[in-house]
This record gives sequence, C-alpha cells and structure tokens, in this order.
Amino acid sequence: MRRYFKRAIAVLVIALMCSTLIGGGVLAENESENDINNEVNVEEIGGNEDVPEISPEEKPGTVSGKTEGEELETNVEEARSALAGAISPQSDACPVQLSLKSSSTYHNVRQEVSDFSLSTTVNGNKQYTDNDRVFTYNFNLIKNGKGLTTSLPYKLMSGSTVVSEHTLELENGNGSVSFPARYQFKTESMPTGVNYQITHKADDNYTWNKDSVTGTTDLSGSNESFNATYKYSPVKYSLDTNIIVEMKGRAFKAGDSFTYSIAPEKEGDPKFNMFPLPSGDSDTIAYYENGARIKPSSGTIATLSLVEDIQRYSSIYCSGCNTYYKTSKEYNYYCENKGCFGSYTVVPSNINVAPEICFLYPGTYNYIVFQTAMESSDYDSIQQDQAQYKVTVKVDANGSNLTPSLTSVKKSTDGGATWSVSDKSKLTFTNYFGVKKGDIDKDGEITMNDVILCLNHVSKKKILTGEALAAADVDGNGVSMNDVIKLLNFVSKKNSDL
Ligand SMILES: [Zn+2]
Repeated sequence: MRRYFKRAIAVLVIALMCSTLIGGGVLAENESENDINNEVNVEEIGGNEDVPEISPEEKPGTVSGKTEGEELETNVEEARSALAGAISPQSDACPVQLSLKSSSTYHNVRQEVSDFSLSTTVNGNKQYTDNDRVFTYNFNLIKNGKGLTTSLPYKLMSGSTVVSEHTLELENGNGSVSFPARYQFKTESMPTGVNYQITHKADDNYTWNKDSVTGTTDLSGSNESFNATYKYSPVKYSLDTNIIVEMKGRAFKAGDSFTYSIAPEKEGDPKFNMFPLPSGDSDTIAYYENGARIKPSSGTIATLSLVEDIQRYSSIYCSGCNTYYKTSKEYNYYCENKGCFGSYTVVPSNINVAPEICFLYPGTYNYIVFQTAMESSDYDSIQQDQAQYKVTVKVDANGSNLTPSLTSVKKSTDGGATWSVSDKSKLTFTNYFGVKKGDIDKDGEITMNDVILCLNHVSKKKILTGEALAAADVDGNGVSMNDVIKLLNFVSKKNSDL
C-alpha cells in the first residue's frame, strides 16, 4: 500500500512539474483532525509537510488505525485516479490550489503510533508487599488541543510475558484502567503527538512519589512509573468470638461432625486462616482456610473457639526478617514478598496457634459464618440451623500500626436478607434431632410457611401427619387455632418464644 501511495505522489509531482515551487513531498495532511472520511482536501501545495508516515507494522489489507473513532477506510486506486484527474494543470495557472472532491478516502493511512508503558512499584518498607493490590489510573489524552475518543488496545505484562489483553476506551480524552501492582500496562498503539496526563486514583494505604505523570508521545515511546510506599505494618488477628454448637432432642454422639464456613463477605478481603496448621481428621477441632470443623461426641453444647490461643509451638523462624511463622507456606508467602532471602529454622516459640486473619490496611471487614454441613448416622432426622452470622472487624490505624477489633455480630435467619444485632461473644447454631416444635416443613427455621401449613391443617384444607403433625403441636395439647396464633406471633416477632 505504501507503494501505491508513493506512486500517487509521483503522479502529483509530475503533474505539478510546471511549477518551480515544488520542494519536498506534497500531500494532504492525514493527521487526526482532518476529516478525510469522504473527502480528500489537498489545500496546501508546496508546503514542507512530510508524506504521512505509515506504520512499519502495517499489514497490507488491514485497517488497524483509528483516528478518534473515525475509520480511515479508503481505496487508494480511486484516490490515485482522482488525484491524477484533478491535477491536470490549468494552463498557465501553475501551481494550482487543488481541491479534490472524492467519495473515496485513504486506505491504510494511519497516524503514527508508539509504545507506551505504565507501572507502579510497591515499596513494602521491609514489610510484606501486596503486589496483588489493584491500582486505578485516570488517563487524559489530548491531541491538537482535542481530547481523543478512541479505543486503545493494551496488554498487561509480567516482565516480557503477556498476561492478558484489554482495550482502554477513551471518551474526549478520558478513560481509566485498573490492574494489580505486579503487572505493567503496555500499549503499542499510542498515537504520537499526544499530550498525556495520567493520575493514579487515591489509595491512602500508600505514600506516592507523585500524583500524576505528564508528557508528549513521540516515536521513541514512553515509559512512565509511580512509586507507592506501604504505610502500615501487617497485623494478624484471631476473631474474638466462639462458635457454639447446640444439639436438641438428643446428645452428641460419636460420628457427629459440624462444619462451618468463615469467609470474608467481600471478595479480595483477607482470608480467614489463610495458612492453616496441619490437622488430622481425628482431631475434635480442625481449622481450614475459610472454615472450621468440630466433632463433639457427648453432651449437648460444644464450643469451637476462634479466639487467640498462645502456645509453645514448633514454628518457622526466618533469620532474614527475624520473624516466626506458623507454617512454611506462610514463611514462603511473606518472605518472598519481603525479599528478605533469609534462611529458616524450626524452633519452638510462643505463638498464636488459633486461626488468624492478616490485615494489611485499615478499614471495616465482614466475615460471614454459617453451618455448611452436619454429618451423623441419623442425619435425616436432624434439622440443621440455617442461621448466618456477620462478624464485623474494624481495623484502626495509628501511625504505621494497625489495631483490629471485633465491633459487632449480626444474625440473619432469612438467608442474609435482614440482619439483627446478636451477642458478640458467641455465634450459636442449634440443631434439632427429631421434631423441632413449629418447624412443620423441616427446613430448620420457623417461618410464615409453617404458619400456613398449621392453618391449613386446622381449617382441614390439608391434614398433617407424623412428624409434621407433631411439630405443629406447639402447645402440646393437640393442633388447634391456638398453635396457629402462637406460630404467627413468633414469626411476626411479637413473641420471642413459641
Ligand atoms: Zn524472612
């Protein structure tokens, strides 16, 4: 295509040979501001403008260039003949001002583009550095005094490896991108001659070396970077509460097992017990990542503690950062990010063996706790507690120190639709063996559905039998309108007991 283009210029040059004014190459501007969609205006002849450059990566027959959203689609042959026709010298009026009207436009004439990269280096202040932290950048790209409106393809790079490919949409020069600190933003399609200003979005957990970077793109490409220095020391915290498991209708027995999910409500928030200690299946209590399990075998109440528990324990000591870790996995995770390159030894130390959450930033964090599974030989006869608890931890900052505290516990019995304040010291789950009074449909909760089932029985619309009939007999003297009223008062929260 470049060849055709040169030929077109040659025709133009020959046609204008009558003039002595012709200096260098002559042709239309193909800069972004020119509207060359349907019209080719050659207004300047004899100027010093260079022939518009065609990107060397240009593949024949493709239209990869976009100029402010306008397609530079054209047919060079048509353009050439239009030029040739139009440049018949008007006898003695040489050089002429050419005004070419054509329905054709230029093909593969694209503006110059260059490489542009952007990254942020996180300085962890000798603490663990969070390279997964997502930073957001606001772009402002101006060309010839006008904000660019275009799609800018870009890649996220890890070193020289392409991690993923995306498109930055710019509207009147503005657009934004977000990506984790461990990656670099790179585009090979940045138009040249663009005045850019890139501002990082506020992230108060870091001290930034600057708010924005500015410059003008040219063919040599641009590399821009920020430095963000970590403000806080990571802190580990055990939820200051207990899970209480209750069994009604019978005592716990061998084979009973209750498992709980304890996970951050918001994806990306720190995990509960990210580095669990090894736990054999025979343990009464086991802690997992985002979960815990208890296997009570006697009594009717069991406690699954989540609170801090300092014990003498064979921990992993890193000489590089002078820190004790519970597991080698934890040592690897933090020491790699610290870059301390210390060697480790296994030494007994007094450390917290309870599940921990590692907080890196101040803020408010919610953990949702619910019973995921109950195993037993008479599983079918047990109505599991369907309650959910929301445990809220507030992490306060004081200088570079973070202090977490459990600020509230809320309970939901309707699948998380509504929450009511609950005792902070315990998250109680009550499981029923056999008949749970009022829970006619055996879904573990007493709801409006149970009221309706009871009413239908009393009104003889649908007769209850067996366990359902026993559950409907709330007052213990046969199922009557009195049971319906008791259930209704309980469901409508008029009475807190059946
Ligand atoms: Zn270390």
